[in-house]
Amino acid sequence: TTEIYYDDDADVSTLEDDTVAVLGYGSQGHAHALNLAESGVDVVVGLREDSSSRSAAEADGLAVTTPAEAVAQSTYVSVLVPDTVQPAVYENAIEPNLEAGDTLQFAHGLNIHYNQITPPEGVDVTMVAPKSPGHLVRRNYENDEGTPGLLAVYQDETGDADERALAYAKAIGCTRAGVIETTFQEEVESDLFGEQAVLCGGVTALVKHGYETLVDAGYSPEIAYFECLNELKLIVDLMYEGGNMEMWNSVSDTAEYGGLTRGERIVDDSVRENMEEVLEEVQNGEFTREWVLENQAGRPSYTQLRQAEKEHEIEEVGERLRDLFAWAEEADADGTEPEVP
Ligand code: NDP
Ligand code: MG
Ligand code: MG
Repeated sequence: TTEIYYDDDADVSTLEDDTVAVLGYGSQGHAHALNLAESGVDVVVGLREDSSSRSAAEADGLAVTTPAEAVAQSTYVSVLVPDTVQPAVYENAIEPNLEAGDTLQFAHGLNIHYNQITPPEGVDVTMVAPKSPGHLVRRNYENDEGTPGLLAVYQDETGDADERALAYAKAIGCTRAGVIETTFQEEVESDLFGEQAVLCGGVTALVKHGYETLVDAGYSPEIAYFECLNELKLIVDLMYEGGNMEMWNSVSDTAEYGGLTRGERIVDDSVRENMEEVLEEVQNGEFTREWVLENQAGRPSYTQLRQAEKEHEIEEVGERLRDLFAWAEEADADGTEPEVP
């Protein structure tokens, strides 16, 4: 059975003799650094000299130095620079300054699991991964709310790795909501699969295919946009609240019967086979090898695919419609998602 930890299972004072180096001050970095500091943990932010994030961290009242110096000053290193630059930052700034007994902490297990970073003996390697974008990790903390998270221990050399990771999870607000124990392997493989097959890749492809099918059959792009993209939020909100059943119970009987009889014809056994293939590429490291090479080559395919996505007609239609309808103004005003109309 899955272990879930809450505030009572963790003690922030476990870190009272530690200094935590937060490397990076982006989405996760700023949230972890500020939440840790407000939880009473000593924090030093590590950023390169010319970093565009430096002024923000300083304005937030945090001590800022270089990544190498931050690691040297600390006993707990939280690696929150982008995954693609972590191996270089590790080699140049972290490894030379790590000492036995230190903790190397990640928010995603990619580089450890696929051996892009090989930590030395004597150092604990842990993961506390909030299951949320950084700005929500921060906002929830400020509102006395929590952010669900995952916790994993890859290497426990001190014997205290679990307790220390739990203290970190509590200090950033995750144990308020609940923290699930997992492994680096499970976190990485399920995360990559989820974003490729369902959340990011699967859903955008489904939306585009639906949109194109309607528009090619002569329906208006505006109608197709609302039907295949905009309404998706309302459906997902219901699923988020109460699972698939909450959604089925809320739509009309006609929608329910049509969906139940046609859904499996759209996402059929061949899609399932494709998913298994994609999962296998995640598991055997093929995807990560491809992504590392793509980065080494200067991201040619990524740039091209991104451009094609940007030029898809649905983007232009959406931009026009979001300008025309009231719900989009609320989104612009506070930078958050639109309200359900
Ligand atoms: P960001 O892209 O937001 O990190 C940007 C920060 O890293 C900036 O402060 C940037 O400063 C710094 N940085 C970039 N390159 C370098 C470099 N070469 N040397 C030093 N600093 C550098 O990262 P995220 O917060 O998105 O991701 C951090 C980790 O958290 C990743 O492991 C990610 O998988 C994980 N994660 C992210 C989530 C998210 O919602 N974003 C969710 C859960 C986990 P500069 O101005 O110098 O470029
Ligand atoms: Mg991911
Ligand atoms: Mg309908």
